[in-house]
Amino acid sequence: MIKVLSVVGARPNFIKIAPLHREFLKYSGVKNYMCHTGQHFDDKMSKVFFDELKMPRPDFWLGVGGGSHAIQTAGIITGFEKVVTELKPDLVVVLGDVNSTMSAALVASKAGIPIAHIESGLRSNDRTMPEEINRMVTDVLSDYLFVSEKSGIENLRKEGISEDKIFFVGNIMIDSLVEHLPDIEKSEIISHLGIAGKKYCLCTFHRPSNVDSADRLKSLTGLLNELSEKLPVVFPVHPRTRQTLERTGGGMHANSNLIFTEPLGYLDFLHLVKNAELIITDSGGIQAEATFLQVQCITARDNTESMATVDIGTNQLIGTDVEKNKKAAFDIISGNKKQGHIPELWDGRTAERIVGILSERYGFQLR
Ligand code: UDP
Repeated sequence: MIKVLSVVGARPNFIKIAPLHREFLKYSGVKNYMCHTGQHFDDKMSKVFFDELKMPRPDFWLGVGGGSHAIQTAGIITGFEKVVTELKPDLVVVLGDVNSTMSAALVASKAGIPIAHIESGLRSNDRTMPEEINRMVTDVLSDYLFVSEKSGIENLRKEGISEDKIFFVGNIMIDSLVEHLPDIEKSEIISHLGIAGKKYCLCTFHRPSNVDSADRLKSLTGLLNELSEKLPVVFPVHPRTRQTLERTGGGMHANSNLIFTEPLGYLDFLHLVKNAELIITDSGGIQAEATFLQVQCITARDNTESMATVDIGTNQLIGTDVEKNKKAAFDIISGNKKQGHIPELWDGRTAERIVGILSERYGFQLR
């Protein structure tokens, strides 16, 4: 029996592992174990995704919680080494760009266990982003680099990764989206929020560069205040963002058109993405989901790791200047929309390709 050990820790990881776990179940001679590091641990950032995406409870739980980069990384490394020693997996799977991704890759590589990195090759070319460091370190240590968009192939080539390790398989987040579209359609979140029949703007911010500085966050919330004079603005607040808002007041004005929510479950959130007039975000995953659903998306950052969403999709990379973001948003509201297409292999079959490749290498078979 081939033992695969997949490592998840934060919200985007849960969405990416669900289709992969399900795909492994179609094969005999292989078992996918899941290790949850506990980077995100509460009901709204973790449990709801296991429930809605119909995943089993993780086999291993490290419970590292929050804390500084060093505390979190050290906790995951220490805990994950014990899991690896106990299970002796044949392959470790890591996903995306969070601290759990990089920390688990470090442990696996020193234990001599092959690593598969899903969503490999993405680069913002901005080393001030903690995620960029996580991506680069993970890719250099990985043996199977599963790339989600063509820019990833070029980035890995430029970094000297050998061709035989690079596999262009598409975006696994889209697998979850395609699979759950019928349930996403059924969500009643729009009427629960009291905005049925209205055009609305959906916003999320959680990148450290946008939310750790009170001034920066204040200028973004100022933008939301202004936008909410035109149309309802729905703002599901990430725990990191909430911390700064609570510490500083955040400059928000009470206004019935500006709707704060807790982080939402996957089905409700994607229902809001699908039906939004526009999205303003700094999230990686949401740029991709908006592109797939052909919804107008403004990325309030100076760079993106997913150039396909800009070159091919409906995403616009506007930068951090608030006035420019306002202009871009008002342009969209007045009907000036960007046409987009769906990038290659974003078709809901990425997990099938990945497990297909691994089955050939490891010799396990479809049931
Ligand atoms: N998401 C969600 N509820 C929310 C906000 C986001 O279900 O309130 C989902 C959404 O599908 C998104 C994913 O979580 O693509 C990843 O979120 P996040 O923006 O936290 O991470 P990133 O993709 O930037 O790493």
